[in-house]
Amino acid sequence: MKATSKARIAALILSDAQRFASLKQEIVQLDYFCKGTVLKRMMKCGNRHCACHRDPAKRHGPYLECTYKVHNKTINLKLYPEVAPLYRAAIQQYRKLKSLLGRLERLSRTALMHRAKQVQSKPRN
Ligand SMILES: [Zn+2]
Repeated sequence: MKATSKARIAALILSDAQRFASLKQEIVQLDYFCKGTVLKRMMKCGNRHCACHRDPAKRHGPYLECTYKVHNKTINLKLYPEVAPLYRAAIQQYRKLKSLLGRLERLSRTALMHRAKQVQSKPRN
């Protein structure tokens, strides 16, 4: 390998490391996260004679729920309206975490290729 391309690889490796460190920093700054969605739902009540049981338009609500899955089971967590922003924020943090992980993985693959090129360019005994 020529000296110029060796220097180019070294520069790429340095920039990979800097980008990796800055993405890691974003993960460190995350707040509580939760997978799921916040939904508004109209509900039937416990009174069988109530109009809500006959007419979907007369159901009660809307009620807020946070829905997520644990071990393939759907969990519906009832939320008071004042609590919903907490869960919406946590869901946002979760999406950010997923996006950061995806970026870190793509960057890692590129960085590994650059490192491999550097290792290959070293003289073999
Ligand atoms: Zn009802």
